[in-house]
Amino acid sequence: QDPAGQDTKFVPWVSKILDVFAPIDPNGPPLPDLPPPTLNLSYNTPLQDAHEPPKNDIDQRLLARSLFLRERDSGEEDAYVMATVQSNERVVRAGVNTSEVRVIRVAVDEGVKYEAGDVLYLLPDQPSSRVHSLCRRLGVSRNTNVTFSRANTSHEWNPRTVGLMDLIQSTLDVNSASAGRWFIELMAYYATTTREADKLKYFCSREGSEELYEYNKREKRTVLELLSEFPSVHLPLERFLESCPVLMPRAFSIACSPHTKIQTSDKPNPALPHSRKTIEICAKVVRSVTPWGRHREGLCTGWLRNVSVGTRVAVRVEKGKFKIPPNEQKPLILVGPGTGFAPVKSLVEDRIANAKATGEWPPAPMAIFFGCRHRDKDYIYREEMEMWENNGVFTRGGGIFRAFSRDQREKRYVTDEIERQGALLWDMLEKGASIYVSGSAKSMPDDVFRSFRNVIATHGKKSLLEASRLLLSLEQKGRYVSETW
Ligand SMILES: Cc1cc2nc3c(=O)[nH]c(=O)nc-3n(C[C@H](O)[C@H](O)[C@H](O)COP(=O)(O)OP(=O)(O)OC[C@H]3O[C@@H](n4cnc5c(N)ncnc54)[C@H](O)[C@@H]3O)c2cc1C
Repeated sequence: QDPAGQDTKFVPWVSKILDVFAPIDPNGPPLPDLPPPTLNLSYNTPLQDAHEPPKNDIDQRLLARSLFLRERDSGEEDAYVMATVQSNERVVRAGVNTSEVRVIRVAVDEGVKYEAGDVLYLLPDQPSSRVHSLCRRLGVSRNTNVTFSRANTSHEWNPRTVGLMDLIQSTLDVNSASAGRWFIELMAYYATTTREADKLKYFCSREGSEELYEYNKREKRTVLELLSEFPSVHLPLERFLESCPVLMPRAFSIACSPHTKIQTSDKPNPALPHSRKTIEICAKVVRSVTPWGRHREGLCTGWLRNVSVGTRVAVRVEKGKFKIPPNEQKPLILVGPGTGFAPVKSLVEDRIANAKATGEWPPAPMAIFFGCRHRDKDYIYREEMEMWENNGVFTRGGGIFRAFSRDQREKRYVTDEIERQGALLWDMLEKGASIYVSGSAKSMPDDVFRSFRNVIATHGKKSLLEASRLLLSLEQKGRYVSETW
């Protein structure tokens, strides 16, 4: 869960342990001897097409991924299914005070099941130019085929052959994740100049661990960058394959109900398959500046910016934390600022679809809290919200409460709106309402919790401690649920 990876906790822990042992060996332990590679590997480049670029086929790439992960990490991943991009629309333009946000719809086979509140995992693609650079850096042709199997195992030798490009592009993160400590230790072994070897060994030492953390993790240095900054390192292919971080799928809350027919303004595209299900996500393009001023863009969301209609992408659906039983008639309190509105939208659409299907219109009460910076810049899903209001969705109670933080002199957030609607919310809670909170994991979840605590204290006439306890008991009963990232 640590955004900077396991080494953030592991390295200081090792440091503490070494303090305990320091009196025994004041110089600390030397780098241990290099254990044998964990993969048996052979590779060759077919002569006849050595100059042809390899075929870029996502099915091949997925096969390479699953075969490789089974051998390298003994891991079985949940299967991916293929989805086809139906539309990819920028709904918020990146600006001084706003981030770029896109609504993306993909078509999946009818057999793919999902429910409101579920999460779509997308396997990002890495630019093939970066993978070519990596192959060049490792001194292998991009047309290489690799045959591998797990070493040191009592299992039968079960070699698998895949294209190296397919394997790296789908499986090994060379362009976003930072290398782990083992990768750096291997680089130290294979550095061929004393200066680079010493620097890398220093990074792996106790004294250098803080500097390594600053240089590598905090700077979000990629594997490709690391290798190019230490040009004397000649890492054998099998060592690279055993130690490079695995490319992870990225999570996006599903922003639609499976029971709602999605209205689209896009012209029908004859190239796209018909009679398939649509899944919608709403993704904010991740951008950050490192402490040394380097600009970074998220691998997956940066790729999604340019994914064109008709592209096939690998996805899988997983259960999210939000789940409401169908035909549930208790009130709902939904807090979803920014892209946190995505799962809120799926729950609301589901409730509307259920109410229509069962004839119990209008739906049970819902209080929705949405927030963004500016009404006219980053107010996503405005049309949908206004349509719900105009169609009488809130006739039985509740409504939509919006906070535009930068549209007036003093900043206003969803937390202010929650406290302003205290009487309504306390009434809903007394009638058995559940609270769902989604969006940024920074300060929002704690701030929202505090606002609900204040609401309960004021309108339920309780002490702050009693109000906190009540919220915690709601959490235990599954009536206060947060899905934050
Ligand atoms: C359940 C859930 C639902 C979500 N729903 C949404 C949603 O609806 N909309 C939305 O916009 N976002 C959502 N997110 C957040 C989204 O998954 C992240 O922002 C995601 O990281 C974006 O991917 P990216 O490749 O663009 O950025 P990344 O390249 O993943 O960069 C994001 C950060 O993670 C770090 N990082 C990346 N890989 C590694 C690694 N292997 N080890 C350590 N650090 C790493 C990067 O350095 C960077 O700081 C959700 C997340 C979760 C868990």
